[in-house]
Amino acid sequence: MDAGYPILLDLAGRRALVVGGGAVGARRAIALADAGAAVEVVAPSVGEGISADGRIAVMLREYSARDLAGSWLVHACTGVAAVDEAVAADAEAAGIWCVRASAAGSSAAWTPAVSRVDDVVVAVNAGADPGRAKALRDAISLLLSTGELPLRRQRARGTSENSGRRAGSAGDARLGRVALVGGGPGDPDLITVRGRRLLAQADVVVVDRLAPRSLLDELAPAVEVIEAGKTRDNHILQQRQINELLVSRAQQGKFVVRLKGGDPFVFGRGGEEMLACAEAGVPCEVVPGVTSAIAVPAAAGIPVTHRSVARQFTVIAAHEDRDLSNLGEVEGTLVLLMGATRVERIAKELVKAGREPLTPVAVVESGTTKHQRTTRGTLATIGELAAAAGVRAPAVVVVGEVAALHDVLNPVSS
Ligand code: SAH
Repeated sequence: MDAGYPILLDLAGRRALVVGGGAVGARRAIALADAGAAVEVVAPSVGEGISADGRIAVMLREYSARDLAGSWLVHACTGVAAVDEAVAADAEAAGIWCVRASAAGSSAAWTPAVSRVDDVVVAVNAGADPGRAKALRDAISLLLSTGELPLRRQRARGTSENSGRRAGSAGDARLGRVALVGGGPGDPDLITVRGRRLLAQADVVVVDRLAPRSLLDELAPAVEVIEAGKTRDNHILQQRQINELLVSRAQQGKFVVRLKGGDPFVFGRGGEEMLACAEAGVPCEVVPGVTSAIAVPAAAGIPVTHRSVARQFTVIAAHEDRDLSNLGEVEGTLVLLMGATRVERIAKELVKAGREPLTPVAVVESGTTKHQRTTRGTLATIGELAAAAGVRAPAVVVVGEVAALHDVLNPVSS
């Protein structure tokens, strides 16, 4: 094959024949069945992969030229050169495409190395070197699945005449969707692979202040980026407005990624956004994220649980109006979010609630970013230390014996 002519076939309901019942035949037959073909295998015996697949019709006998009748495509993979050759010659005479598994050089058609990422098909042929084709296929699909290639749709689903059955058949073709993506605690490397891939596909990104914002730099210019970031005094968008925005953009057929800090369901109001989508009938997917409640202490060398030190941890929203008086008896580590500017009061209230004043405390600001800083003290001292250090949001406050492990694991840091 010098040039070859790549093409995708719609085999749904069309007859495809596989001659040979071994491992190669099984792989080919299953791939054809996956593509919706009416698959028949002819072979004196077949392996379990074929016999166990209810989609595949089996004829347990030797091949004969008559078997080709009505087939659009045939795979010759008996492993016996003479038989494969006969199949290929019969197919050639009948005008049927034949793929010869073990004689690529004299085959009329070739199957590329294939992978699918969402509705994108990657098919690679690399000369007569299947290993090379697979390696290239794998490299491309890895880049696709991690969002490093431009996977974003350039036209709405189902609008193309030739978009193919896979892309355009669904009844909800024009309806967009929403993904609530947990972006992790700040370092852009700490988003999930799925989150990153969906971000690369987004038409609209609605982003929080604490989300890994450097990922926005990679978005194509056509992507609409909407700031939903809330600061304490400056609510750029009310939650109700955010919900409406997600729904209305999706109803325009857009794929909307709601990029959040940490995990969408840990004090992220992701639940409300998901409910708003459900009420509007908009499909909504949640992509979990690495929550700052665990990752920010970790980044400071503080395990939230530790054998024989802390067997549980409690994550608390340390809002202005949060009553901490019931936390005196709670066992294990306390992890307080949204309390950066109230460290002194939090510490006093916890002592009042009955916690030991010498309990170690760590306040970790801007965890996993280059501004990460840890202030260490005890419930008795941390208020003053945090004030002196000028602790600012975002910060996680860790209360419990595990906080002292910071000093062991970071002997030289503050
Ligand atoms: N959904 C998020 C939490 C949102 S509430 C999550 O799962 O992580 C916002 C609070 O998270 C902040 O007030 C702060 O307490 C904490 N936070 C988020 N990112 C942080 C970071 N990089 N460093 C320190 N604290 C962080």
